[in-house]
Amino acid sequence: MSNATQLIHSIPVDPLTGSISVPIYQTSTFVQEAPGVNKGFDYARSNNPTRATLESIVAQLEEGAVGVAFGSGLAAIDAVLKLLKSGDEIVAVDDIYGGAFRLFTHVYEKFGIKVHYTDTTDAANVFEAITPETKLIWLETPTNPTLKVSDIKAIAKIAKARGCLLCVDNTFASPALQKPLTLGADIVVHSGTKYLGGHSDLIAGLVVTKDQALGEQVKFLQNASGAILSPFDSWLLIRGLETLHLRVKQHCLNAGEVALFLQSHPAVDKVYYPGLTSHINHDIAKSQASGFGGIISFTLKDDTIAAANAFVCATKYFKLAESLGGVKSLLCSPAQMTHKSIPVEKRLAAGVQDSLIRLSVGLEEAEDLIKDLEQAFEKIAANKARPVSLTEAIAN
Ligand SMILES: *Cc1c(COP(=O)(O)O)cnc(C)c1O
Repeated sequence: MSNATQLIHSIPVDPLTGSISVPIYQTSTFVQEAPGVNKGFDYARSNNPTRATLESIVAQLEEGAVGVAFGSGLAAIDAVLKLLKSGDEIVAVDDIYGGAFRLFTHVYEKFGIKVHYTDTTDAANVFEAITPETKLIWLETPTNPTLKVSDIKAIAKIAKARGCLLCVDNTFASPALQKPLTLGADIVVHSGTKYLGGHSDLIAGLVVTKDQALGEQVKFLQNASGAILSPFDSWLLIRGLETLHLRVKQHCLNAGEVALFLQSHPAVDKVYYPGLTSHINHDIAKSQASGFGGIISFTLKDDTIAAANAFVCATKYFKLAESLGGVKSLLCSPAQMTHKSIPVEKRLAAGVQDSLIRLSVGLEEAEDLIKDLEQAFEKIAANKARPVSLTEAIAN
């Protein structure tokens, strides 16, 4: 059975009524026949049928034992961190999602959890960063925004040999392209806000574990800390998942065309897209994922904040917004948005130049998206050539 067929038919028909859409159980509690005698549900923080259905679908999708749904991607990451205790250490990808960095640094460090950041594209760096206290290896692959790719299989072997858990944030690839648990990872986390939901209409997070007992620990933390996903958002996420494979296929096709266009444009300096043979991690990306995703970053020859600003304000279909993975194309200037709080030197070392622009290539026709980018390049070139008036010069 193909992945798409399996996903679509992992969404159950309601046994009670035959409803083909999963019912939304908008309830806080469940009536019991006698104390402790119930139909498998007692209180909706602990368990809810709509959420339980979503969790089962996502667990199957990632080929894991247990899925656990949270109110955001960060709440999912937070739950994984709570598996650790004071004194434990984490080895993490240096290009980590900014929100995860904030959580690790400003919340968990004060509880005595230390994080070592390293360039995980070389598995040897991971091996060297591990100490006897290391309990968790944290990967994101591809990373944001320069789309660096790490070898999940090699790092999983290192994790196993050193007795650490390997957690992969699979948000950028999605399980339509990459299944870290089948490559040896122990845990997958997702911001369901992105490709899983796919329509920019919800915030959600997921944890999937390969192992049943570890999954039960995460479920315990979900109930104990309480950052659950609501029944409505669980339903909406199921609804988005129905078209995951279809959407991701088109995101990849569109992004492939846009990346080639950017690569050949004279105003563009670098293009970061794992599907391009020029990408430093192209080979490993090709070997562990079935496609290269919908995210592209690029820099301008005019490597200035002003040029990036002019560009991101000049597009029509690419809307200026944080986030990614939705039907509508988005773009952002990481230096001024997602990576603004990172010190300039650190930001530049991570490849986030002033003119770097990140695209989330949506589901419009690729040809229209390319035309949109083309007219934005023309507009910024014309603006640059135009003599500045006295009022503008004074205003600036
Ligand atoms: C967006 C994102 C998150 C955080 O998810 P939220 O749903 O916004 O809390 C985590 N990891 C990655 C890679 C993301 O892109």
